[in-house]
Amino acid sequence: MRKQIAAANWKMNLTYQQGEKLLDDILDAKIGLAAHQHAIFAVPFPYLLMTRSEVEDAKNYHAAAQNCHHKKSGAYTGEVSVEMLHSIGVNYCVIGHSERREYSAETNAMLAEKVNLCYDSHIVPIFCCGEPLAIREAGTQNDFVAAQLKESLFHLPTDKIKEIIIAYEPIWAIGTGKTASTGQAQEIHQFLRSVIAAQYGEENANEIPILYGGSVKANNAKELFSCPDVDGGLVGGASLVAADFIEIIKSLK
Ligand code: PEP
Repeated sequence: MRKQIAAANWKMNLTYQQGEKLLDDILDAKIGLAAHQHAIFAVPFPYLLMTRSEVEDAKNYHAAAQNCHHKKSGAYTGEVSVEMLHSIGVNYCVIGHSERREYSAETNAMLAEKVNLCYDSHIVPIFCCGEPLAIREAGTQNDFVAAQLKESLFHLPTDKIKEIIIAYEPIWAIGTGKTASTGQAQEIHQFLRSVIAAQYGEENANEIPILYGGSVKANNAKELFSCPDVDGGLVGGASLVAADFIEIIKSLK
């Protein structure tokens, strides 16, 4: 079965101590994950080592960075390179979250560079795509997300694209309490898979997890994840509350 993933995105929230307690509370629930199920915690850079060591003995629980720089190394004060992440044993990195695209002016071309660096360091990119409200209202969301995939990912060879995790996150649903309906989520996830299939073949497209993000909560996760092309979620707000994220992990297919 295709990987099913509950990914937490803490963003710029929680102190170190609060983050450690949150992880303790979630791990204390001892949710046994099946071979195809994974829980990933995208935490602030200073918490990565702590998170790695917290999840070390829990099968299929992982730490992720929320970002990396698009250059390999050099005079970029305050930035964190992919190589640095690799050197502390981080195996996943969120790439192209809409907040970074918006506030840090990250372009599709820049994200392609980040993706390449991740693969060079054996870090799995969790690649975010998704349309703003105006695009959804104009009904051109499919073209918009297809371009995001093509411009940042479609230079990759098949063996690399097969490793990627995609997160579809409609910007109008992030942190707004507005969730895409299961119909909307399934429709666009199926479309994204068909775009990948057209480039890389159906068999390969069928292996790639496509997560939904945008106000996933404990009370809607099961319904969203039940869609055939929704392979779990990338979760912001609800990942900061242990009981909620535990429920979300338990909602994985
Ligand atoms: C996110 O940060 O990627 C996200 C989807 O946030 P929220 O779950 O709070 O909408």
